Amino acid sequence: MFSSIKDKVVIVTGGSKGIGKGIAQVFARQGAKIMIAARGKEDAQRTVADIEAEGGTAAWCTCDVADWTSVKEMVAVTEELFGPVDILCANAGIFPQKKLIDLEPDEWDQVMDTNLKSTFLCVKACIPSFEAAGKGRIIVTSSITGPVTGYPGWAHYGASKAGQLGFLKTAAMELARYNTTINAVMPGNIMTEGLAGLGEEYLGSMAASIPLKRLGAVEDIGNAALFFASDEASYITGQQIIVDGGQILPE
Ligand code: NDP
Repeated sequence: MFSSIKDKVVIVTGGSKGIGKGIAQVFARQGAKIMIAARGKEDAQRTVADIEAEGGTAAWCTCDVADWTSVKEMVAVTEELFGPVDILCANAGIFPQKKLIDLEPDEWDQVMDTNLKSTFLCVKACIPSFEAAGKGRIIVTSSITGPVTGYPGWAHYGASKAGQLGFLKTAAMELARYNTTINAVMPGNIMTEGLAGLGEEYLGSMAASIPLKRLGAVEDIGNAALFFASDEASYITGQQIIVDGGQILPE
């Protein structure tokens, strides 16, 4: 679909399952070399095997995106194996639900560190590669929850996801000098293991309320990320696209 993706080196944080796996598979089908960065080994190995079974190229690396040393090591391992990073998909995230009255300060910090600080850390670690190459692409997985809507139990999550959009506007201005773009995909409800944990009742009522009458597929997000990474999107930066089946449209 997008010839400019072939042979590109792509980091997908949280690429071992869910949306990240979908992004990784979509890019691998275009001939990119994929580094899956996540904490857990089994899911990451399974994703690499699935990509290789389709004839793609992928490897995995243990990484905690909230930890600066771990993120720097992950980028170094990627470059040693595949060469300079061309595209960063900053996707890893968690969405534990807790009402404000029960939410503890350390639980707030954990969500902020994993979802928001991680975006800064991963971008920062890739800047030298983009500067040296004189080009680069960053795609952030944000959410509609926070920037557009609220949802009970997700004040911390929503703040982290809105924070990502605030971050990328200034990042876009600073990275433009390296011919590097940064944009965000804002998923609605996408069917992943993480979302499945919210239970049948949530999933059923959510699907019924969406104008396109289904939860999103992980490839729906992968395809939007692929567009932002392509040459065809080279003049778009600091922007975001909502991929939600029409969920946020007014009645
Ligand atoms: P999943 O729980 O299915 O997958 C999360 C991925 O992130 C896993 O690969 C996990 O691997 C990784 N991860 C979590 N914490 C860390 C960490 N500290 N360091 C490295 N990797 C980590 O989630 P989804 O695929 O559903 O969500 C992915 C992203 O999409 C998140 O940013 C989420 O906020 C966003 N999103 C999802 C929506 C949905 O409907 N599913 C809607 C809107 C946004 P491991 O645990 O092994 O580290």
